[in-house]
Amino acid sequence: MKNRILTSLVAFSLITNLYGAEHKSSAQIMKEALAQMEALVAKKTTDSKAMPNDVNSTFTLGKYGTFKFEKANENVYIMHGPVVGPNKENQGFMNNPAVIGAKNGLIVIDPGGNYNVGKKVLAEIEKISDKPIVAVFNTHKHGDHWFANKAIVEKYPNVDIYAHPNMIKVSKEGEAEVWYGILSRTTGNLDGTKEFAFPTKTLVDGQQIEIDGQKFVIQHPHDAHTDTDLVIAHMNSMTLFLGDNLMKGRLGSFDESSSIFGNIELLENIKKETNFKLYVPGHGLSGEKDKTIDPFLNYLKVLAEEGKKAYEEDLESYEIKDEVIKKLPWMNDWDAFKKNMPAHLNKVMIELGEQELANEESEE
Ligand SMILES: [Zn+2]
Repeated sequence: MKNRILTSLVAFSLITNLYGAEHKSSAQIMKEALAQMEALVAKKTTDSKAMPNDVNSTFTLGKYGTFKFEKANENVYIMHGPVVGPNKENQGFMNNPAVIGAKNGLIVIDPGGNYNVGKKVLAEIEKISDKPIVAVFNTHKHGDHWFANKAIVEKYPNVDIYAHPNMIKVSKEGEAEVWYGILSRTTGNLDGTKEFAFPTKTLVDGQQIEIDGQKFVIQHPHDAHTDTDLVIAHMNSMTLFLGDNLMKGRLGSFDESSSIFGNIELLENIKKETNFKLYVPGHGLSGEKDKTIDPFLNYLKVLAEEGKKAYEEDLESYEIKDEVIKKLPWMNDWDAFKKNMPAHLNKVMIELGEQELANEESEE
């Protein structure tokens, strides 16, 4: 009975939404609303069947092993995901979801890469606390970090989801679709992820926010990993969440909104000016400052240095890549190192070209 009332309410709101949004025939509106209702009801039935088993089952991903939240700092729990790219065996789980325990509820950072992973992350969260999730942070636009919002919103429809305005804008304008394509192809595990659960609230550079007694200070490094990133400082525990501005054990990709020189500057400033107890990368193990930051920072610095030399000698990045690999012995066991490094080196040289152009223009 309760379900039926709920379903009619959902149907009513769908009809009003559809009616308000576009000019469609009323038959068309009814048809669409009914199709969406049926999908909702079908999902409800499978959910309730799956529930009892889910509670005690472990989150296991083939050769990558078992995953759970572990206490990393005062009231901070992190589930370090497999340090590899998206694939069938990791089902698209590859990032570091974090949970912060507050007085009345929980705050989640980057819940994961799809709806199904989100359900498993939720089940793991429920093993460490029965408090409700009151807020979510998304560190940047890449779907492997935020598509699992969908599972959280399903359970907590009123949850606040925070991200930088650029993240929300570009995700809605097509970036989410691009990531859906990438992750769908590589993992085949995107069922239920649409319609996307986009962030609902914005945070900008320098903003301070208190949620349920937990204080956060936000930095937006507008040209490091991407132009959509948040670096989140949790002040109660002195934990710094760097998102993909910091990686450990694997490399990601830079795009036209990224800057390798900006990323170097950001990490150098963080090293110089901060003293947190714990530093959390977007991928790979968290830890103390230098041990966690140096491998990636030194990697980027070698690329910048070698790229500069090649640029001045008019060499192409592919001509120097074998020499550069020799200068990065600590990177050899990083996932996708040899595959992604040449692209990063090329990115350095593109940035050098842009810098030269900008200098010439400012001299004119
Ligand atoms: Zn990532």
